Amino acid sequence: MEKYWELRLERCRQALEENNFGAYVAADPEGARDLVMKEILPDIGGPRISWGGSVTLAATGLVEHFRTSPEYDLIETFDASVTRDVIMERRRNALKVDLFLSGTNAVTETGMLVNLDMVGNRVGGMVFGPATVIIVAGRNKIVPGLDEAMKRIRTLAAPANAIRLGKKTPCVHTSTCSDCRSSDRICNVWTIHEKSYPKGRIKVILINQDLGL
Ligand code: SF4
Repeated sequence: MEKYWELRLERCRQALEENNFGAYVAADPEGARDLVMKEILPDIGGPRISWGGSVTLAATGLVEHFRTSPEYDLIETFDASVTRDVIMERRRNALKVDLFLSGTNAVTETGMLVNLDMVGNRVGGMVFGPATVIIVAGRNKIVPGLDEAMKRIRTLAAPANAIRLGKKTPCVHTSTCSDCRSSDRICNVWTIHEKSYPKGRIKVILINQDLGL
């Protein structure tokens, strides 16, 4: 299995690279953090950093590192101590940072990123604004193509995230999507990144472990 995953991750990495993403493979979350700190961060222009919610990103410890290092200016976009209006203003400001970090809901073997968001600040940062974007993705996020990516998100990632976030949606009781009309619905904005533009703006680190939802 070790060889299988090495080969599959390398194939996916090459497909991402052909689509103009920066693409890397790491053995584990700690390896992904080292890659960011040693290979990517030295080339990034400034200290302003923010992120979109991601279980995989949390596993790397990167946000915690930036939070506790005085040389970085981290915009906190999740903060229970401030009002929703303040959070939304911070999320707008997070679109102007030097570096934006996130996970992804799916990576296709053809080298595309597919995501579904509730608010849109996570996919917003991937689409436009931050000078550099780093995406971390466990090997369980890899699917053959777009159809499988959307199916993965609808049938697994979205219901599991609704459960994780304690939403009041039908899927938290059934584990399946009923395309609900709930005000708590977390499925509002789809994005498909076919390529990175400009070349290398989005950098994807594939991690050789099952991580995130
Ligand atoms: S559309 Fe509604 S039911 Fe379906 S996964 Fe999203 S939140 Fe759950």
